[in-house]
Amino acid sequence: MLDILIKNGVYPDYSENALKKANIGLEGGKIAYIGDDEPEASKVIDAKDRVVSPGFIDIHMHEEKFSEGKKYVIAEYMLKQGVTTAVGGNCGDIMQPVKVFKETLNELGGSPINYILLSGYNYYWREAGLGHFDKSTPEQREFIHNRIKEDLAEGAFGLSFGIEYDPGITEDEIVEAADMMEDEHLLVAAHYRDDGEQSIPAIEEMIRVQSRIKQRFQISHLSSCSALGTMKESLELINGYMEKDPRLNYDTYPYNAFSTSMGSTVFDPGCLEGWKKDYSDLLLTEEPYKNQFATKETFDDCRANYPNMLVVAFVMNEDEIAAAIANPNGMVASDGILRNGNGHPRAAGTFPRVLGKYVREDKVVDLITALRKITLEPAMRLELEDRKGDIHIGADADITIFDPETIIDGPNFQDLSILNKGIDYVIVNGEIALKDNEFIDDRAGEFISYFEK
Ligand SMILES: [Zn+2]
Repeated sequence: MLDILIKNGVYPDYSENALKKANIGLEGGKIAYIGDDEPEASKVIDAKDRVVSPGFIDIHMHEEKFSEGKKYVIAEYMLKQGVTTAVGGNCGDIMQPVKVFKETLNELGGSPINYILLSGYNYYWREAGLGHFDKSTPEQREFIHNRIKEDLAEGAFGLSFGIEYDPGITEDEIVEAADMMEDEHLLVAAHYRDDGEQSIPAIEEMIRVQSRIKQRFQISHLSSCSALGTMKESLELINGYMEKDPRLNYDTYPYNAFSTSMGSTVFDPGCLEGWKKDYSDLLLTEEPYKNQFATKETFDDCRANYPNMLVVAFVMNEDEIAAAIANPNGMVASDGILRNGNGHPRAAGTFPRVLGKYVREDKVVDLITALRKITLEPAMRLELEDRKGDIHIGADADITIFDPETIIDGPNFQDLSILNKGIDYVIVNGEIALKDNEFIDDRAGEFISYFEK
């Protein structure tokens, strides 16, 4: 007997690029039935007028920093937006070594979502005592490599860089670290060296890195690099290269503002002039200035005294955000990051926003293409397509059931806790994890090791 039968819904059949009507049965944490019959099941979910999607896969987010408290914050927001598997450790900035993350996940008795981690170059760059603009010595790089190898031995899926955060990191150094990893099936991801007017040389550098390494290379959150006036040229460069080398790809998020720490080099003198923006385009997210737009005085105070505060910068162009989403290449990911529970709403609303605003309202991309960009494409990127990102017999029972007519994001720049609309059920590893925004079993997720993929 099935554990769960989901009847009367439609699911994306990517092999035919069509939404198909079928009843879907789950058993033992796997998809066990797809068809027109109604086999007996312990529980039946009526999904009439609903899409029964593979659970969303967020290939670029930032996991919880357990030193802020051994609890889940962003993983809960992920689950509430239909994510069943997320990849942390991005932008060079893993929040703790993989071993520590796994131990904490076990202590907490599982996780709201399935978690995958990348190792983070910048985290160990700092551990090696290097400052933002320093040049590393061979001994320091060996130290960094050894720490990365420890993460890989614990099951990390690859390595990320935050080049802009520590501009001392050289192109050769990135290639050297990729070569050190040897395994071509690992993923290399990077937050570019520069944005706005300097985004084209930054993308050219990443394309050169791809041409020099044996792994797949992921350009992280393209819109915050290029949606300040260079998206058309950026996409031409990326699409052109991908025609001969499809190992390159990118992810992008559906908001016209980016977010990072106040102390970051991103906010070094000259940034506002470069973006042609003003202090009032920057939203401060923590006390004593929570939800206030900056002035010169509060900006200077935060730079000096609150360097860890996340700042939201409204500097990107809407038509360029849409172009990055609509492009035939590319995935959509949240780049979600929270500090003490605060931050950009992309951490909590990215996936309903793509399906509500960009698919239904603005019609910049059709439903099945958008679903592919948040399920099958990231699964293929991680070489998990046999298990995840697709509805087929034997796949993991990670399922998100939503109403395509009502799905929309709730969280905004002032309040992350506003609920998303239109997501009925999120099923993780065969367990109903969320129903109508209420947690049912919020520990059904697990750490996915590279070695069991
Ligand atoms: Zn980043």
